[in-house]
Amino acid sequence: QYRGVLGVPVVHRQKVLGVLLVRQRKARRFDDADEAVLTTLGAQLGSAIAHAKAIGEWCRLCRPHRQRTISGVPGALGLSMGHAEVIVDGGQLVDIPDRQASNVQVEVERLHAAIRAVRDEASAIRTRFSGQLGETELGLFDAYAMLLDSPELLAAATTEIQRGNWAAGSVARAVEEFAKHFDAIPDAYLRERAADIRALGKRIVGHLLDKTDSTTIGDGPIVLVGQCLSVLDIGKVKRANLVGIVTAEGSAFSHIAIVARALGIPAVVGVQGPPLAYLDGHELVVDGDAGQVHAHLSGAMRAEFARAIDSRRRENASLESIRHLEAVTADGQRATLYVNAGLSADAEIAVTAGASGIGLYRSELPFMLFDRLPSEREQAQLYRAVLQAMHPLPVTIRVLDIGGDKQLPYLQERREPLTRGQRGIRFLLDHPDVFLTQLRAALRANEGLGNLRLLLPMITCVDELDQSLRLVDQAVEQLEGEGVDVRRPEIGVMIEVPAAIYQIALLAKKVAFFSVGTNDLAQFLLATDRDDTSGAARFGLPHPALLQALHRIIEEAHQAGKPVSVCGEIAGDPAVALVLLGMGFDALSMGPAVLPRVKAAIRRVDSASLRNFADEALRCQSRADVERLLSKVARTGAVEGASSTQWEGESVVAAAAKPHPTAVTN
Ligand code: PEP
Ligand code: MG
Repeated sequence: QYRGVLGVPVVHRQKVLGVLLVRQRKARRFDDADEAVLTTLGAQLGSAIAHAKAIGEWCRLCRPHRQRTISGVPGALGLSMGHAEVIVDGGQLVDIPDRQASNVQVEVERLHAAIRAVRDEASAIRTRFSGQLGETELGLFDAYAMLLDSPELLAAATTEIQRGNWAAGSVARAVEEFAKHFDAIPDAYLRERAADIRALGKRIVGHLLDKTDSTTIGDGPIVLVGQCLSVLDIGKVKRANLVGIVTAEGSAFSHIAIVARALGIPAVVGVQGPPLAYLDGHELVVDGDAGQVHAHLSGAMRAEFARAIDSRRRENASLESIRHLEAVTADGQRATLYVNAGLSADAEIAVTAGASGIGLYRSELPFMLFDRLPSEREQAQLYRAVLQAMHPLPVTIRVLDIGGDKQLPYLQERREPLTRGQRGIRFLLDHPDVFLTQLRAALRANEGLGNLRLLLPMITCVDELDQSLRLVDQAVEQLEGEGVDVRRPEIGVMIEVPAAIYQIALLAKKVAFFSVGTNDLAQFLLATDRDDTSGAARFGLPHPALLQALHRIIEEAHQAGKPVSVCGEIAGDPAVALVLLGMGFDALSMGPAVLPRVKAAIRRVDSASLRNFADEALRCQSRADVERLLSKVARTGAVEGASSTQWEGESVVAAAAKPHPTAVTN
């Protein structure tokens, strides 16, 4: 009965989310103005729908048990499946009501008892994990103890009780007040601390309400899910049963993510979507690589994921057999593979992963575990542990790289986050005391070992290098004067700001090596944001310009006679790694978890294939060309024992560049 129809697509970021359709009974042509109005509405609806999905409103409109993919941020790599155990933590602190205290003295005593109980829990869990976590990660539990001991927190809660409020309400008000200060700061790292403080507050309130479920959760593979899980919550599940972690709050730098990585448990943090209570008891797939959680899977999808997990298991088993073999092509060309590290536990993994050393030790990671700058002695202890664990293999300590998207709460000037313009070497040169302390700590740690190399981040010009080298000389002289047996280590520069590409010949006169930070180089070269997962996936490596830039970097470095490696995440993608080696990079540095796969891929190809891949890469004219090439290379280097699933035989980078097949069904 309709004689006129006008339809426009509802689009968001190149994905069609639906169609907006108007129909009318009258036979009439829709004119340009009608079309323009509907198109505008379609575009606005697209972003409104995306926003509704992001804040969780969307799920109120769709069926709760429909298959869905919930997006977050990768917290720890890996793929796993298990039943969700949602940690109910007494709700939000703001939901705890104020009530008249019947007896102020009794309430104060209950407060002290609850704090003691949480402190005991923290120390019991610390003891339980002491064999599996390094000292640095265990220090997180001490940080909890320190928060619990904070006189300000106790005083604020006690004052509230003395005003007549009951203990639970008093703790909730005091903690919420504390946390709000952190909330108000735009920096992501500080917001994490707010989540930590709230988690702790909820725990205390839980004891006061006698709701803390301190029983260990039952058998079977468990995915721990919570609004803001704390490191204490992992103690609820037996280690052997804990297969995944999902939290709504937090980022890759949250304590829970740091501990998940150290324990090798796949984790997705900062998930956006349905209220987590919907997930309780349901089977979830945790994809820590993609930062996605899949729920309510159809039979076919479940079988596909189960196959992928099984395939990974077999792949890992087959990789186990080459762990101690060299990274060498079928015709004998050797490749140097290093690992990227930053927590002490990584050093042990690096040795077992069969790496040739640490190509990038991100020193800002241990700095994030402190609530102030670590002293020279504390830093020296940290670095010494890593240098000793890896000895005689080289350890490349990158000096502090903070600013822009990497913040340390206690180093913000006038409580403002450090800008991108203040990042890396610029911050260090603005704060020579901080720089000198770190240099002295690293040189001290190297005493009697000699496997230290130093790497300078975000260098853009020779002047910055000259100033840095003067400080290295100063640190060496000071320590010599103090009777320390110091050796001046090899010093390298990161090529991660496009400006540095044009300075390589000059920089090469003063340094021993270069390391390309493709994470930053890609974002600055391609005008993307490395934290925007959609942007990074769409405009990351599969860009021919990045390949041309890498080619130029190798040419310049080699012309100057200096080795050059890649330490950005792309080096850990087996297909990309083969292309990079073919292009002539002297070494690749990657996460310890992916190193065995890269090594296996190298062992399956010969050096002529590597060169062909590189030639083809440099002939690519479009992103589609690069994606096609990477898929082809991935098939060539696929690991034996791995079945053909949607992951294997496809470059992760190429796959990420395509729209995710399940994301649109959300
Ligand atoms: C990079 O930028 O590629 C890099 C390795 O450094 P980070 O990721 O720590 O900035
Ligand atoms: Mg970088």
